[in-house]
Amino acid sequence: MVACKLENKVPWEPGYNRTWVERYVITEDGEIFVDSPNAGRDGFDADYRNLKYQNLKVGKSFFVPKLCNQCDNPPCVTVCPVGATYMTEDGVVLVDQEHCIGCRYCLQACPYGARFMLPDFSTTHFGQVRVVDKCTWCYHRIGKGLLPACVEACPVGARIFGDLRDPESPVREILRKQRVYVLKPALGTEPKVYYIGFEKGVH
Ligand code: SF4
Repeated sequence: MVACKLENKVPWEPGYNRTWVERYVITEDGEIFVDSPNAGRDGFDADYRNLKYQNLKVGKSFFVPKLCNQCDNPPCVTVCPVGATYMTEDGVVLVDQEHCIGCRYCLQACPYGARFMLPDFSTTHFGQVRVVDKCTWCYHRIGKGLLPACVEACPVGARIFGDLRDPESPVREILRKQRVYVLKPALGTEPKVYYIGFEKGVH
């Protein structure tokens, strides 16, 4: 999250995130809690956990990173009235902030909460305020052969990035060998963000 905010000049406040990490806590009775204090920006410390869950029998707890799913059938693109949200030829959904009119239709249409409005105090490269922002997979980096900032920064290699068209890509290797999952598959958005080791109840 920090790498993303620094790389993409995302406002530091918790409400503005191109990527964030949720903590799922599932009790032995099957109750599911989703935590993201400060959207996970400051971590999930022991005091916070102990206070909230001290009277519950926690069965398991795990982290789920979230970001724009780079849908192959993106509802955000469909609803944009001015064509400011679009898909590139290589399949990445971007926002043309020079032409975004800040109508928020795409915020409503995205089923993953991946979009947010930039605040008044934050200006884009074009000087606009109150336009939409979201993860671009660091499009300015991947075009130069670099990894997205979050992928590069992750100390345990939990995020793996690659070109689905490249048979040698590590992502293709994973898709060949492991079972992968997407968020909200029933919606037909066809996400290109895949999860390994998904737990029941994650959404
Ligand atoms: Fe659009 Fe949301 Fe899909 Fe990203 S996750 S492509 S913002 S609908």
